[in-house]
Amino acid sequence: MTTIQTQLQAVRDRIHAACLAAGRPQNSVHLLAVSKTFGPDAVQAAFAAGQTAFGENYIQEAVQKITELRHLPLQWHCIGPIQSNKTRLVAEHFDWVHTVDRLKIAQRLSEQRPSSLPPLQVCLQVNIDGGSTKSGVAPVDALALARAVAPLPGLHLRGLMCIPEPAADFVAACTVFKSARALFDALNAEGLGLDTLSMGMSADLEAAITSGSTMVRVGSAIFGGRHYPQ
Ligand SMILES: *Cc1c(COP(=O)(O)O)cnc(C)c1O
Repeated sequence: MTTIQTQLQAVRDRIHAACLAAGRPQNSVHLLAVSKTFGPDAVQAAFAAGQTAFGENYIQEAVQKITELRHLPLQWHCIGPIQSNKTRLVAEHFDWVHTVDRLKIAQRLSEQRPSSLPPLQVCLQVNIDGGSTKSGVAPVDALALARAVAPLPGLHLRGLMCIPEPAADFVAACTVFKSARALFDALNAEGLGLDTLSMGMSADLEAAITSGSTMVRVGSAIFGGRHYPQ
């Protein structure tokens, strides 16, 4: 087996164990493989091991990869910040977006989604721990944003996403993730019909799963350490 195959299996085992420990069905958590900074060959190696959903942060880099690999039945998720001038590329190339945090971006994505494609699947990014420099809608504003995004014709609102600051320990991580789960449940109590809570990465996927994540976004544990271009 290649390194990527071995590491992918190890991540699946971690997800399985975390589901078991939390008393959750193991198919209740989806794995998004975060392939940012890695080339098409790494994506192909993961695909050969059965992985079909991939996450990318940098739009330009992603579009190149998506185009090069269009012969494969892959699902592409945008998990990076989106500037207004990049919405068209996102609308035309991705299947999912996890990082919608304001109505203007949602409206542009909806308008620019080609009618030949299914609606773009959308999660609202929530600034769950209130980091001042971070993107994400404030938790108190999430319901209003969800109500405004849900009816947009080019989008299908699926859920919430968060990227908390690294926590001191497992219990502290769970506290933050559980507040995201509570917000997700509160929006569903208002009839939003969300089915996706995107949280948990290489370092904290167990805490996220224990707290009710339905999708973990895992990069380095599958593909190894990243080297960022200068
Ligand atoms: C890079 C990234 C990940 C993956 O992080 P790892 O620690 O490598 O698993 C997940 N989510 C987002 C938004 C990211 O930018």
